[in-house]
Amino acid sequence: MGLAQKLKNFILMDVADENETKKASVIMRCLSLFLYLFFTIQSVVLFATGYTTAAVVSLFCLVGYIVAFTMTYQGYTILTQHFIELLTLGWVAAFVGIMGWDCSYQHMIFSLMLFSILTSYRNFLYKAVFSGFLCLFRLALYFYIHLHPPLYTVEQNTMYFLNILNTFSTFLVFFIIAFLFSKDSMEMEEKLVKYNKKIEKLAKTDTLTKLPNRRDAMERIEKILKRSRDVDFYLNIAIGDIDFFKKVNDTYGHEAGDAVLVQMAEILKEDMGDDGFVARWGGEEFLFVYTSMNGDDAAMRLNDLKTKISQTTFKYNDIVMKLTMTFGLEEYDFHNSIDDVVNSADEKLYLGKTQGRNQVVF
Ligand code: GH3
Ligand code: MG
Ligand code: MG
Repeated sequence: MGLAQKLKNFILMDVADENETKKASVIMRCLSLFLYLFFTIQSVVLFATGYTTAAVVSLFCLVGYIVAFTMTYQGYTILTQHFIELLTLGWVAAFVGIMGWDCSYQHMIFSLMLFSILTSYRNFLYKAVFSGFLCLFRLALYFYIHLHPPLYTVEQNTMYFLNILNTFSTFLVFFIIAFLFSKDSMEMEEKLVKYNKKIEKLAKTDTLTKLPNRRDAMERIEKILKRSRDVDFYLNIAIGDIDFFKKVNDTYGHEAGDAVLVQMAEILKEDMGDDGFVARWGGEEFLFVYTSMNGDDAAMRLNDLKTKISQTTFKYNDIVMKLTMTFGLEEYDFHNSIDDVVNSADEKLYLGKTQGRNQVVF
């Protein structure tokens, strides 16, 4: 494993307490690492340019962020959050007091506000109050430093350098927080969308046969009706019921029955092709919806299907079975509701059962 990968794994390491999310800790780790770097550079520069007091404070901050970094691995997420907030407020105030307003230390307050809004799970009021406090804090610093001159009058070039360093750091800290947060929410959102799609599919599909279930079938029919309101279209609905299916269960067991249903579903689906759809209506009953032919053609199709089924050998392990199916078919017209059409198909199916089964009643 490369060094970069090791560092990445270390930063992304999960928090000790499972009730806390990783997101806040990861943001704090990245932030602490960057600010550690920031204070290292600053300490060196301040020592070299003779601003010893500022350099010593800078060293303390450096240690502070090491502490914050290690705290995130001890399971103190909320405590670390407050520690970082206090530490940042402290050094911003200290450096404005020591180096003055023109070195731009105060900009970090904006990033701190983003930090406390995005990483804490506190309520709206807390975040609003804290943001308000930061606003007042910045104003207070401004007036304080214009009434009390800073410890150093910073030389022009050092001021330029510190301005660049502070502005750059503020933007980068802002970026780190916003990026990590949005990355996390986007990943969560993606996960949710995928999960919802899966749930939706599960809710619409019959688990055994993988055909659309009854609910989905009704929704599909409603969609077909809506889409076809103004144009000529066909809608033929049939219900098919396996004859003497109970015997299959009674003779060979429920699992054999299940296997037959799966095999039957495949035959029905293949036969339907793109002419409509087949759904599992319940038990050993299937719903057929033909949308691309009139009632007579649908009846012909079902008669062919009836013959095909009666000629098929259904298999389960070593058992082979012969089956037949009875169908009731009804054509939709605008005067009737879908429920009427389905009921009528059902009545015709019943008629087919009483007339000797293995037939299509239209
Ligand atoms: P008919 O020709 O009058 O339709 O007779 P039948 O035996 O098919 O009808 P009946 O309604 O008496 O029995 C249907 C059987 O279908 C009873 C039930 O146990 C079985 N069945 C329903 N759903 C399933 C299932 O998911 N798996 C299995 N194995 N059997 C099922
Ligand atoms: Mg049956
Ligand atoms: Mg039945």
